[in-house]
Amino acid sequence: MRIFVLALLAMFSFVAVPKTFSAIPDGHLRLYHTHTGEHLDIVYRHGDTYIPAALAKLDHFLRDHRTGEVHHYDPRVFDVLRDAEQAVGRADAEIHIICGYRAPESNEYLRTHTSGVAKHSLHMQAEAIDVRLPGTPTLKFRNAAMALARGGVGYYPASDFVHVDVGPVRRW
Ligand SMILES: [Zn+2]
Repeated sequence: MRIFVLALLAMFSFVAVPKTFSAIPDGHLRLYHTHTGEHLDIVYRHGDTYIPAALAKLDHFLRDHRTGEVHHYDPRVFDVLRDAEQAVGRADAEIHIICGYRAPESNEYLRTHTSGVAKHSLHMQAEAIDVRLPGTPTLKFRNAAMALARGGVGYYPASDFVHVDVGPVRRW
């Protein structure tokens, strides 16, 4: 019996070893904001642990470019961007940001001056980002984001961007 237990322990310790080698890769993003002209190259997650200082930089980078207001982002949306980019074979390529956080007054302004802006847009919860990936057809990026099924994905062909959020899974 003792030998059996020892064998079992040995087996488990052996099995446990490879896990350290298959750790979750770091979360890395390269971004360009089309409205502010700023670039950001950042590791925002080590393995499965988000890095608070990096998230603060991302929050500032994705501030409302009209009002300057900053809102804390749900970091899962960064993982969606990163994983969609990886899925289209463009890991670490620079993603262009069309819109990040939207203060309520900005959202209201857009809603009354443009079409396709929701009254309770998840941009106001800092849970949505509008992007395109130059060099990859936006439709392809949209399909990759949709396949992840981690939130909403909206496609805006006329303006050539895709909306991703971490709200309920839906598409438009
Ligand atoms: Zn959007």
